[in-house]
Amino acid sequence: MTDPKFETLAVHAGAAPDPTTGARVTPIYQTASYVFDDADHAAELFNLQAFGNIYSRLTNPTNAVLEERVATLEGGATALAVASGHAAQMIAFHTLMEPGDEFLASTRLYGGSITQFSQSFKKFNWNAIFVDPADPNNFKEALTPKCKAIFIESLANPGGVVTDIAAIAEIAHEAGIPLIVDNTLASPYLCRPIEWGADIVLHSATKFLGGHGNSVGGIIVDSGKFDWSASDKFPTLSEPNPSYHGMKFHETFGELAFGIACRALGLRDLGPALSPFNAFMIITGIETLALRMKAHCENALKVADFLQNHEKVSWVSYAGLKDDAYHSLAQKYTGGAGGAVMTFGIKGGYDAGIKMVENVNLFSHLANIGDTRSLIIHPASTTHRQLNEEQQIAAGAGPDVIRLSIGIENADDIIADLDQALMQS
Ligand SMILES: *Cc1c(COP(=O)(O)O)cnc(C)c1O
Repeated sequence: MTDPKFETLAVHAGAAPDPTTGARVTPIYQTASYVFDDADHAAELFNLQAFGNIYSRLTNPTNAVLEERVATLEGGATALAVASGHAAQMIAFHTLMEPGDEFLASTRLYGGSITQFSQSFKKFNWNAIFVDPADPNNFKEALTPKCKAIFIESLANPGGVVTDIAAIAEIAHEAGIPLIVDNTLASPYLCRPIEWGADIVLHSATKFLGGHGNSVGGIIVDSGKFDWSASDKFPTLSEPNPSYHGMKFHETFGELAFGIACRALGLRDLGPALSPFNAFMIITGIETLALRMKAHCENALKVADFLQNHEKVSWVSYAGLKDDAYHSLAQKYTGGAGGAVMTFGIKGGYDAGIKMVENVNLFSHLANIGDTRSLIIHPASTTHRQLNEEQQIAAGAGPDVIRLSIGIENADDIIADLDQALMQS
């Protein structure tokens, strides 16, 4: 057999019929704990000398299928499923950062990530420096000796802006630090950041991986390629660990070190474990990822075309449009596709934006993306309201901005709903 392709891996990777029951679909292993074979087995598990299940905060067989599936689709060495996209970010940084450390983050991020980085991470004394990703050299100029990572989104929320992953990866690697890419909006169907030099890929699995708006979850994927022992920047990975009898993660686990440290330290001590029920829902969602992403992209392109020619619309930001400023980067990183999420400017600004979200019928007015259903939000009055106006504009979420996440309904119905709502706003 030739190497299986994406669609095949999305259905099969990581899963096999259940060895004890023959169940074809991965069962929900709804258990908190696992019985040890004997006292020696228990000791080996606790010492990380053997792989196996202890407690579902750390590992669970249903979650393990999800982990292997996403690691495979992203081309990573290992993955860790956690309770949410934000938990994935917290745990990844917990492994990389010491108090007083810094990291560079794109200004073009999900609003909640900007808040997490600029507010809550400060309490750990992890300090984010925000950088406009339009010119990759901005990252080079912002680097400091205390920087431990660069964080970007591949397709950036909310504007569908495409970030130059390869150029920024090169800058990170010259500085001896990893590039972390939040690949939530693109999904591995449109973009596999590891192929472009990313070291760590994160997902809010709540969005396109799960795809149906029914489960919150997050994933950390490690490429396995970064050399954590090349400098003294990452003591959690390169230095003896007191909670495992002085074991060094990178020396012991090689390309699996980051993933194991995220699990054995971050998930162990911070605790945001994914429920196996949610893992089951997300695994099921991933089986149709390719079909859904194709439909999302086709519909979104039709909607973007329609909006561009609408009298109530002043601009459209969607990298799938041929004349979009980011289309050439999209051709490089996503095969020219723009994904499901776009923003546009409504004539009439903040007040017209609020009217628009109140006048839609088919669209749901809510704070999510990546659902089969079409979704709409006015970021300045919702997801980005914690930011000041300058930060809102920097994040592509100014007062006139409407964000759409285009679903997989019929495009004519989606467009008709937008048209009637625009005409009333
Ligand atoms: C939603 C989202 C997150 C946060 O994920 P949760 O699952 O809501 O915690 C992070 N990044 C992006 C791009 C998102 O869209």
